[in-house]
Amino acid sequence: MTQHNIVSISGGKDSAATLLVALALDTPNLQAVFADTGHEHPATYDYVHYLAEATGIAIRRVKADFSRQIANKRKFIEAKWPEKGVPQAVVLAALDVLHPTGNPFLDLCLWKGRFPSTKARFCTDELKRNPIIEQVFLPLMDGDSMVLSWQGVRRDESLNRRYLPECDEVGGGLFNYRPILKWPVEAVFEAHRAAGIKPNPLYLQGCNRVGCMPCIMCAKDELREIAARWPEEVARVREWERVVSIASKRGAATFFTAVTDPTVQANDNITHATHGIDRMVEWANTSRGGRQYDLINLIARSGGDLRCSSAYGLCE
Ligand code: SF4
Repeated sequence: MTQHNIVSISGGKDSAATLLVALALDTPNLQAVFADTGHEHPATYDYVHYLAEATGIAIRRVKADFSRQIANKRKFIEAKWPEKGVPQAVVLAALDVLHPTGNPFLDLCLWKGRFPSTKARFCTDELKRNPIIEQVFLPLMDGDSMVLSWQGVRRDESLNRRYLPECDEVGGGLFNYRPILKWPVEAVFEAHRAAGIKPNPLYLQGCNRVGCMPCIMCAKDELREIAARWPEEVARVREWERVVSIASKRGAATFFTAVTDPTVQANDNITHATHGIDRMVEWANTSRGGRQYDLINLIARSGGDLRCSSAYGLCE
């Protein structure tokens, strides 16, 4: 029986440390894979390239493709929106923007007519988990092979990860393996240092974690840092809010859920222009005396765990 060892690389420190463990153990049939969301900071793309060069392990890049879903949504809009009384101008505008862009994150939101949220966190599965399963794992699962999915997950990162086992069977010959599950964060950086591998430089620039820029689970201080250091990342989200709003039947889509803002009233007219990323950046720059829909409210609404805590380790 052949054993395939696949390390999922997120661009963050934990997945890099996991790859370093696999290399230190001379793991046979070792591959690394990075799911490109289309919403990473350029430094992360550069880092994945660096990591491959520095370790000598090619990192395969996979991307989700939502062309089929978008084509089906076009048919649905043409047939159903007029029946539901949606004005013709809204239908035509939606059809005008509903074309695959090749950016997985944007195309996912165009298809869904909305952005993911803490309560509907479909992004990790659609953008990371599914492409890796479909494009990498499934072709290897031939009934005669064992596929070990190496995941850079640590217990002390979040409640969701606290009780994960080091190894568990998914089925069909696929197993999850989490070799750094019990590591403290210091050990992660020590593994980089010992191997002579630099961590993603974003950790030195105010980022506590590395992933989508920004992540929908972004905390207040992270959003403030992102807006101050990389306004172009905010500008990209602003433009996506405009386009996804056009593809939405309600005509409004905001990157961060507007209802997490306690100053928003039930009958407020929510649009991307009034309640979009710029409003959240403005809030992120407030402290005492600013609007008080702060992290405490967000933590309470998210069940106490604000971190993007995918059990697969695909989002850091
Ligand atoms: S990093 Fe955040 S926004 Fe990106 S896929 Fe993960 S949960 Fe979604």
